[in-house]
Amino acid sequence: MNNRKAILFSAPSGSGKTTIIKQLHQYFDCFEFSISATSRQPREGELHGKDYYFLSIGDFRQRVERNEFLEWEEVYEGTCYGTLRSEVERIWDNGHVIVFDVDVKGGMNLKKIFGDDALAIFVMPPSIEVLEQRLRNRGTESEESIQKRLGRSALELKEAPKFDVTIVNDDLQQAVEETRQVVNHFLES
Ligand code: ADP
Ligand code: 5GP
Repeated sequence: MNNRKAILFSAPSGSGKTTIIKQLHQYFDCFEFSISATSRQPREGELHGKDYYFLSIGDFRQRVERNEFLEWEEVYEGTCYGTLRSEVERIWDNGHVIVFDVDVKGGMNLKKIFGDDALAIFVMPPSIEVLEQRLRNRGTESEESIQKRLGRSALELKEAPKFDVTIVNDDLQQAVEETRQVVNHFLES
């Protein structure tokens, strides 16, 4: 079996990627989350080196200059996110399957890089209204940040057909089970 594999989760912010990934960890010991770098501030409870590598915008830009990123995006105006090349090597050296939680453009870029070694999963919210409700209920974003996130979502949803699989995240347990099955199939192939 090829043991250099990756699972990419992409979706508009608030669709439920992080929630689904956390639940899947209990089924797949081989999973290791790719910790992205970001220039945004940590949310309450988020830890440097666990949820993200939280960098100043200056540090982020220097790393871009040094070609340390496999991909990176200014996902929201003034806020950058990126996958460090060192993360990919670290996780594959551990013999683990890389799990990415990236924006839709980043997901498409990573799929181009990894090809058949990656399963690209699009997490679809039941509707934009539900997406907005979830972002509000999460209680982590300012009104400005909610509007920035919703502003991108319509365009992002149109990219779903470019992914290998779309999982509609309406009922959470059903979405987790469907994801578990497609991941199982991919890892066994
Ligand atoms: P993302 O990582 O895609 O930005 P999150 O996983 O943070 O999204 O989910 C956004 C919010 O929606 C969270 O508060 C989460 O608890 C909630 N949520 C996720 N999936 C569901 C679901 N199927 N039904 C109801 N709420 C959900
Ligand atoms: P959040 O601020 O909600 O944690 O993330 C905002 C968006 O940035 C989400 O869509 C998330 O998937 C995306 N994101 C997180 N890390 C990366 C990354 O390394 N690269 C890209 N392109 N997007 C990322």
